[in-house]
Amino acid sequence: MPSTRVPLSPLHERVNQWYAEAGRKHLPWRRPECSAWGVFLSEVMSQQTPLGRVEPVWREWMQRWPTPAALAAAAPGDAVRAWGRLGYPRRALRLHEAATAMVERHGGEVPGSPEELLALPGVGAYTAAAVSCFAFGIPEVVVDTNVRRVLARTLEGKAFPNPTLNRTEAKLAADSMPTDRDTANTWNVAVMELGALVCVARGPRCDACPVADLCAWNVAGRPAYDGPPRRGQSWHGTDRQVRGELLRRLREAHAAVPLSHLESSADDAAQVMRCLDSLVVDGLVEPLSRKRFRLPT
Ligand code: SF4
Repeated sequence: MPSTRVPLSPLHERVNQWYAEAGRKHLPWRRPECSAWGVFLSEVMSQQTPLGRVEPVWREWMQRWPTPAALAAAAPGDAVRAWGRLGYPRRALRLHEAATAMVERHGGEVPGSPEELLALPGVGAYTAAAVSCFAFGIPEVVVDTNVRRVLARTLEGKAFPNPTLNRTEAKLAADSMPTDRDTANTWNVAVMELGALVCVARGPRCDACPVADLCAWNVAGRPAYDGPPRRGQSWHGTDRQVRGELLRRLREAHAAVPLSHLESSADDAAQVMRCLDSLVVDGLVEPLSRKRFRLPT
């Protein structure tokens, strides 16, 4: 059992009940009829990206590539182009590679075990656990940023978890899972949703929270965070921003683009070239010569 005095059964019960009433069950990948491929896509797309931005892109992808085989048959550059501005665009390439592996190894289906999922290109522990649970009803321990924050507050009485997931925290998440399979599967999505809608990073809505009187952090008077420094979410002027701008120009061109059109992506010419080089190394951009570039075909 976790080293917490917070009673787990009421916590599970209330969070699951709250989800039944307030969770975004209308999201297409949460509908019972959604395919495992649809769930897989949604999990990759929603990492570090708000669901509101994911939904239109997810719908477009599902219409265009409704199965792993359909995506595998497309050019990798089409996947990068269709990724739009979801961010972290290497995920588009990894999805294409995963779809290809599903065709080659699993008859064009999303594999149904955590181990097989984990063996796919670009699939980490979180995605394997989430797809196992949400597509196949296997109650793996699903731990994303939102879940980590809710557990840190409710069970540990801390404003935020440590910057990176450590073994103690992973054990706490595992130990805090409901033992009943159905309750555990609902808990996984419900606690994640509570972190996304109520127990948000800044300005948690404790007055509207179903577990306010159980939450160790709230009950302790919401003490300030005093752990290791947390990573900032800086964006403007970063290499991530410049990489995004380069990809935007390449996406919109629908053809090879001269270097002269890419050089103005940022004020710092050295930064532009560094970012362009990194996109080439990542396989997201294909150099046709030293002066012409395009998305991969
Ligand atoms: S009471 Fe506040 S801090 Fe605790 S889980 Fe609810 S929203 Fe989060």
